[in-house]
Formats: sequence, structure tokens, C-alpha cells
Amino acid sequence: MRQSEKLRDVLYDIRGPVSARAARLEAEGHRILKLNIGNPQPFGFDAPAEILQDVIAGLPGSAGYSDSRGIQSARRAVVHHYQLIEDFPPLDIDQVWIGNGVSELIQIALQALLNNGDEVLIPVPDYPLWTAVTNLAGGTPVHYRCDEDNDWNPDLADLEAKITDRTRAIVVINPNNPTGAVYSKQTLESIVELARKHDLVLMADEIYDKILYGDAVHHALATIAPDVLTLTFNGLSKAYRVCGYRAGWLAVTGPLERARDYLEGITLLASMRLCPNVPAQNAIQVALGGYQSIRELILPGGRLLEQRDTAVTELRKIPGVSVVEPQGALYVFPRLDPEIHPIKDDQQFALDLLESEKILITQGTGFNWPDPDHLRIVTLPWSRDLAEAIGRLGEFLSTYRQT
Ligand code: PLP
Repeated sequence: MRQSEKLRDVLYDIRGPVSARAARLEAEGHRILKLNIGNPQPFGFDAPAEILQDVIAGLPGSAGYSDSRGIQSARRAVVHHYQLIEDFPPLDIDQVWIGNGVSELIQIALQALLNNGDEVLIPVPDYPLWTAVTNLAGGTPVHYRCDEDNDWNPDLADLEAKITDRTRAIVVINPNNPTGAVYSKQTLESIVELARKHDLVLMADEIYDKILYGDAVHHALATIAPDVLTLTFNGLSKAYRVCGYRAGWLAVTGPLERARDYLEGITLLASMRLCPNVPAQNAIQVALGGYQSIRELILPGGRLLEQRDTAVTELRKIPGVSVVEPQGALYVFPRLDPEIHPIKDDQQFALDLLESEKILITQGTGFNWPDPDHLRIVTLPWSRDLAEAIGRLGEFLSTYRQT
């Protein structure tokens, strides 16, 4: 039996063939250091206790379906959360949808928007779900470059040049996965201006908005675009360390009257998934209203900041490897100089590293990066484990040759 042709261009290499090989090695008894997925809990990042308590307390009453858009308390908590962000446009619970993670809401938002052949501007490198879902929805992903020599900021000229009369939306991932870039207000204003001029929808994936290092500041895209239809995606997976619960939300702001038909489409698709996981929805109010413990992890002396620093320092010790210091999120995206490390097939490189060192990373082309000269490492392991893993990567690279 063959899979459908709709899946022809649908790729999700973060959990692709290399991680399938890792699973087989694990089944054979090998211990694999998984540096491929932003999954905090296995690295000792526990969810805040108050979240667990509320979810457990809510379990007996969570066995029924909820409203398709999500429970009131969660949607109200999202409204309240954005009310506290200066300049966030007016938001009412009718503008909020809860999802089984941001992932489900990305699928709903793109499926509801795109006709076959409609184009979506997506950054490259990207979080590959955006490209995969655009393809699955019959759209055409058009990648705008982010410039490594300019701290991975979007190349605005490239973005503008790629707008056509088929373009429907611009995706902005800020803080960015995989690069860790955090965009300035000025950069965001330029993107908003393009959306305004060409009547495009803005899709702001801000799941890492609270994971910021040093003096990085996050500007919610919606605060700059009160007059542009803006879909803000966020959730509990990363900052609240409960990605297994699958709790995310979508908040829509801007000229809603003009978008009424599209928003009805979103509600239709939300109703077809019946409802989001109800026990996980109980986590949203307590998470947003409770103590924001992520700050302890990113402030000086915090574990995430220290690990980011370790990853950058250790990678820079490897000859032929360079890395832009991430300003946010949970990843580093180093470059392997092709003169020193001439890799033709980076998936093969990831497989070879896995077989030899039992370290699982994701190859750069898995993020739609066109050249086989980058890789992504998560900065979640303790510093000593990260330093050891990156040291082993360096040793492996020193003798590695592809034929
Ligand atoms: N968006 C980005 C940029 C991500 O990195 C991820 C997960 O890694 C997601 C969305 C998906 O998040 P969720 O767990 O809410 O589905």
C-alpha cells in the first residue's frame, strides 16, 4: 500500500530516519544522548508543581468533551495574559482557540487559509512543521533567507522579493528555532509593513517568547501590527516544561470583520477535532497565572543560560566550526566550514555520528537549510553532558570524511 501523494513533499526530519535508527539502537540496549528534540523533562526540567496539582485535581471532571475552542478558564487566562503585554491589541475570548499544542493549531490555521498553490513565506532555516503543513494543505512554501552573517536576522530584501500575487501569509518564528535569533522591533516593523502593503496574514510563532538570554527583549508581533490580521501561537510546551500535555493556544488580532470567513473556517476545523485534550487545558490557567519559574532558568546562574554558554564555548573550540550565539530558545545551529569539513550528505553525517558516538543531532537540511553544512543541537542537557557530547563531536569531526 502506498502513502498518498499529498505526503510527497511533507518532511519532518527532527523525528525522521535518523531518530528511527536511534530508536532501533536503543532497543538493542545502547544509551543514546538525544540532542535532537526540545523536550525538557528527560533532562531534569520538571514541570512546576502547581501545574501538576491543578491537572490532577481537575482529572475527575475532565472526562467529557469540552467546547471545541477550549474551556473558558483557559481562554480567559490567555486573554488576561495578553492584556498584561503592553500594546497587545484588544483581545476577547472569541479570538482565542486552544489546541493540542501549537502544532495542531498550525495545521488548523494553514488548512483553513490556503487554496492549492497559495504561497506562504516561511523563514529558512525554519521549524520544519511550517513547511510540512503548508505542503500538506496544498500550499507552496516559499522560503525567505535568514542571514547568518547578520545574527540570523531575516533578509528583508529577500522577503520582499519573494512576495507574489499568490502570497497569503508571512510566518515569523521569534525567538527562532533553530537559530536562537530574537528580532528587534525595527526588524519586526519592516515585516509588518510588508504584510500591510500586500494584505498578508501574519503568523507569529512565539512559543519561546519567555526563553531569552542576556539583554534580549521579545516584542510580540501583534503589538506592532494592530491593523494587520495577526495569528499569535504559543503554549505551555517549552516555558512551562509540559510538552507531553499538548497545550497551546492561538490568539487572533487585527481587522477581524474582514477575516470573519477565515475565522469561521478555523472554528469549523477546531470543531472537527472535537476538542483539545481536556486535562491539559486545566494547566493553562494555573501556568499563566502562577509563578513564572522559567525566569530562574534563564537569569544569570540559571541552568538554561549556563548550558547555552557551554554549548557556544565548546563548539567554538572545534576547528572549522562557528556558531552565532543564540539570544533565545533551546538550540544552537552551528556551521561546519565546508573547506574543513566537506560534507555532501548531512543526513548521512548525522547517521554516522549516531552509530559511532551514540549522539543524536538533527542535520541542518532538516530545517530546509539548502546546504549540508549545519546541524542543530538542543541546549537542554546539563553543562557537563553537553561539553562531553560536543567534545566527542569535535573528535569525530577531526577524522570524519565522506566518500
Ligand atoms: N513552534 C516551534 C518553533 C517549535 O519549536 C515547536 C516545538 O518544538 C512547536 C511550535 C510545537 O510546539 P507544541 O509542543 O506546542 O506543539
